[in-house]
Amino acid sequence: MTFAVKIKKWHAVASWTWNAGDDVCGICRMPFDGCPPDGKYPGDDSPVVWGICTHAFHLQCINRWLQSQAEQKCPFCRRQWEFKQAAIGGEDSDA
Ligand SMILES: [Zn+2]
Ligand SMILES: [Zn+2]
Repeated sequence: MTFAVKIKKWHAVASWTWNAGDDVCGICRMPFDGCPPDGKYPGDDSPVVWGICTHAFHLQCINRWLQSQAEQKCPFCRRQWEFKQAAIGGEDSDA
């Protein structure tokens, strides 16, 4: 009989970090309540946006990602990227 070691520790660790994936940007890995690498101020300058795939990123991070890609795909799951919920107040139309 071999040692059947069930890894129970994993569960404890997982419960601690259960929402880590939701709290950090999948692109820059910075917390959503912090600054992205090229952001100046937390919050105001780095709105968080969600895709229809439920992955979230800083607006400027996903924008830069999309601009660098030929196709608009989520950097996490490679599904078609569409904004689900934008933190920006409507589209920039002529004022
Ligand atoms: Zn980011
Ligand atoms: Zn995704």
